[in-house]
Amino acid sequence: MALFMDTRLLVRKAKDLRCLTPKRNRVKEKWAATRTKHPPTSLALQHFDATYPAQLGQLWPSVRVALLSERKYGALLNNFSHDDALAALQAQGCRDFVSDAQSSSERGVEEERGDVCEEKSDGHQLSPTPLSPNVKCLVFPRGDITRFKPAKPDKSGLLGYYLMDAASLLPCLALDVREGHVVLDLCAAPGGKTLALFQTQMIRFLCVNDSSVSRTLRLRKVLHSYVPKHLLTDEKLRITSFDGTMWGDMERDTFDRVLVDVPCTTDRHSLMEDDNNVFSKNRLGERRRLPQLQLELLLAGIQAACPGGEILYSTCSLAPNQNAAVVQQAIALAQENYGIRLQVVSLRRLTQMFQKTFHFAPDVALGEMVIPHLAANFGPIYLCKLRRLL
Ligand code: SAM
Repeated sequence: MALFMDTRLLVRKAKDLRCLTPKRNRVKEKWAATRTKHPPTSLALQHFDATYPAQLGQLWPSVRVALLSERKYGALLNNFSHDDALAALQAQGCRDFVSDAQSSSERGVEEERGDVCEEKSDGHQLSPTPLSPNVKCLVFPRGDITRFKPAKPDKSGLLGYYLMDAASLLPCLALDVREGHVVLDLCAAPGGKTLALFQTQMIRFLCVNDSSVSRTLRLRKVLHSYVPKHLLTDEKLRITSFDGTMWGDMERDTFDRVLVDVPCTTDRHSLMEDDNNVFSKNRLGERRRLPQLQLELLLAGIQAACPGGEILYSTCSLAPNQNAAVVQQAIALAQENYGIRLQVVSLRRLTQMFQKTFHFAPDVALGEMVIPHLAANFGPIYLCKLRRLL
């Protein structure tokens, strides 16, 4: 009943917000005669209705309604800005969910009396997950769908915060970068996760890549709007537009950390926007090839990592064939083709730390997944962490 009330209030609030949107900013409906009979958003919904109930069972109706409702953002705080955006956002009722999770986890660890690294019954290692104290992301409380105002530039032109799906921060936190690390962000544009990696202020050298030249340009603009020039020099940063699947042939056994945030069916976008939608009829081939491309990108990321290095694979799709199945095949092929042995690193402690902010899917075969929920409408985000054995 409580959830039902919650839902009705949120839907009403979303409608009210639409009324408040000035007419000129509303998207115009296409003329009936020219409107496509089967817009990509409807094809996406049909596809999800046909496939996700088998995976999510009774959770699907609630995930579905959340996916079709207004999403929630988080404001990634820019430590390089001179303005006190943190205080301003806190005054509006936001909280930094990263620091909150860190402090409650530290309390929990104290209670466990220093038992910070356990072994799960399935043999996967349970990571202690210290979070970078420099990464801060603010969200409005559960059930509150207030929108953030656009960030303003400070006196040096740097913006105070970057708006992103707050769950997109989890792959960056799970990557667990440490002082002096050399890091590769293989599919980086438009750059939200790159920016979060910058915020850690721990990376010795960051390689940022995206095969799309136009998206790489966008990423450059993002970095210049948030990061001071002296941190964007050739000694600290390299930005490229290579096909990431070829990385294993170019630079093997190099990086302490590799982020492989692959192109996917971007489920939320596919349900909301007809433009640039991978469910368009003319993109069927591209969509069908996604799992193979994802596998090749992950294998390239695995080869790029140094022995002992860690690789974080992520998508913003709920589809098992783009998530756990890709990771499973990559583990087998890395051993078979390159003699690389991998260990799956459990992210269970991370999900425990963030369970007040996000809803996590139960029983994911491999890795973890944030599922959208009306009261915490973030995600979907799938993430799985691998460690290259020596
Ligand atoms: N990590 C980004 C962020 O947080 O802003 C989002 C990455 S998006 C999910 C996937 C990206 O992969 C797209 O920008 C796309 O251009 C890029 N991509 C697609 N195929 C690629 C390839 N073969 N090599 C490298 N990047 C690729």
